[in-house]
Amino acid sequence: MAERLDKFLANAGMGTRSEVKKMLKQGRVQVNELFPRGGETKVDPQTDQILVDGKLVSSEKHEYILLHKPAGYLTATRDGSEKTVMDLIDSPRKERLFPVGRLDKDTEGLLLITDDGELAHQLLSPKKHVPKTYFAKVSGIMEPECIPLFEKGLDIGDEKQTLPAGLRILSTNEAENYSEVEITVREGRYHQIKRMCHVTGHEVLYLKRISMGSLKLDDSLAKGTFRKLRKEETENLK
Ligand code: URA
Repeated sequence: MAERLDKFLANAGMGTRSEVKKMLKQGRVQVNELFPRGGETKVDPQTDQILVDGKLVSSEKHEYILLHKPAGYLTATRDGSEKTVMDLIDSPRKERLFPVGRLDKDTEGLLLITDDGELAHQLLSPKKHVPKTYFAKVSGIMEPECIPLFEKGLDIGDEKQTLPAGLRILSTNEAENYSEVEITVREGRYHQIKRMCHVTGHEVLYLKRISMGSLKLDDSLAKGTFRKLRKEETENLK
C-alpha cells in the first residue's frame, strides 16, 4: 500500500519527522532511481526500493542483528579510544542500535544487536532467567565433582550465590593440562563465567557464547560478521 515517504521513513526508525525532512533535503534518500527532496512522495514499500545513504531501508518496526563478536572489541555503542562491536555493524539504523547485554573484550561469540528496547529488557531481566550457554577452555582438569557445585550455585564474592548453572565437561587434556567445557547460566553478572571457574580452581583461557535463549550461533557466521535474524528466530525469542 502506498504511503508518504516521510511517514514510511519515520516508522522505519530512520528518525523523527523533522530529522527525516532534513535527510530528504540533503539528498540522502533514494527511491528507485530518484532522490526526492520532499516527504510527500508516495511510496509502496512492497515494490519500491527505498535507500538512505545507499543502504536499503527495511519496513520492519525493529531490526535484529546477530553478530559473531571477535575478541578485541568492546561491547558498547561508542568509546573514545577502543574499537566497539558497533564498528562491525552496517545498517541505516545504526544510530539506534545497541548490544543486548555485554561480552568482555576478550570474549567471542553470539551478540544480539537491536533497536527493540522491550525485547532487550525481556532478555536481560533478572526475573526471566534466560539461559546463556558458553563454550570455555579452562586451565587444569575439570573434574565431574564440579558439576554439582555449579548446579548448587557458587559463592563468587557477590551478595548472593549464583543461580543453579549447568556444567558439561566436553574434553580434558592431561598432557597440556586444560579442559573444554560448556556452561549454562541464567543470569548475567559481571565476569560471571570467569569468576565461577576461578572459585573452582580454573582460569578461563578462552570464552565464547554459543547461545542466548532460543538463539544459537551457527557455524556459518564467520567471526567478525553479522546477519539479520530470520523471522522465526525473532519470533522464538519473544
Ligand atoms: N562471563 C564472563 O566471564 N565473561 C563474559 O564475557 C561473559 C560471561
